[in-house]
Amino acid sequence: MSDGSGIIGWQKYSFIDFPGTISTVLFFGGCNLRCPYCHNPDIVLNRLPQISLSEITEYLLKRKGAIEGVVFSGGEPTLHSSLPEIISGIRNIGYKVKIDTNGLNPDMVSLCGPDYLAMDLKTSFERYAELGCTLPDAQKRIGHTLQIVKAMGENAEVRITVAPHFTDRDAIEKMAEVLQGVNKVFLQPVQLHIPVIDPEFAGNPQLPEGSIENFRNVIGRFAGSCIIRSETA
Ligand code: SF4
Repeated sequence: MSDGSGIIGWQKYSFIDFPGTISTVLFFGGCNLRCPYCHNPDIVLNRLPQISLSEITEYLLKRKGAIEGVVFSGGEPTLHSSLPEIISGIRNIGYKVKIDTNGLNPDMVSLCGPDYLAMDLKTSFERYAELGCTLPDAQKRIGHTLQIVKAMGENAEVRITVAPHFTDRDAIEKMAEVLQGVNKVFLQPVQLHIPVIDPEFAGNPQLPEGSIENFRNVIGRFAGSCIIRSETA
């Protein structure tokens, strides 16, 4: 494995980030979206020093058995061309791999072939530009990643952060339709009591009470299951 990988954050132990698997979580700097409610500004804006792969590898070699999996998160890990090489190296020392992605780089997801995939769906396809997305083929890319999620069955999930504006009723109805065939969908209430990229976002009118339960019912008609996950990342 080579160093200078773009990893700028590291949570050494996690019991919640990789279903059924005790994991270590690596955060890659940079992202091709700017969700105003993102609570990882230092990671997304690449404001932290890099962590050496040799340090991470050494840690993993010592923790074999106690830790079983590695989560590649961010930021957006699929922006890093080194990702397949890093994953291959970590697999070679006996770890399972999960990728967290915003879904905009399906080719990289396919290349890496994770054991578990978590894809964030942010809003309806036509509103991604409002999240800073400049890719002209964003809809096609997200649709492709959703196909990968569907093909992975119980080894993949879609996560939706329920936030003012981006997940209003209109957006949720459109999102629900593209989730037909997804095994698991999790709804996560946005957390605005912690530092976010755009502090003014908290000033948006909040969604009416009961919205998240209504959204669960809408999406539950299309996805295999739709669960409200509270106080999660
Ligand atoms: S929430 Fe995720 S996709 Fe959005 S800016 Fe933050 S890291 Fe990027």
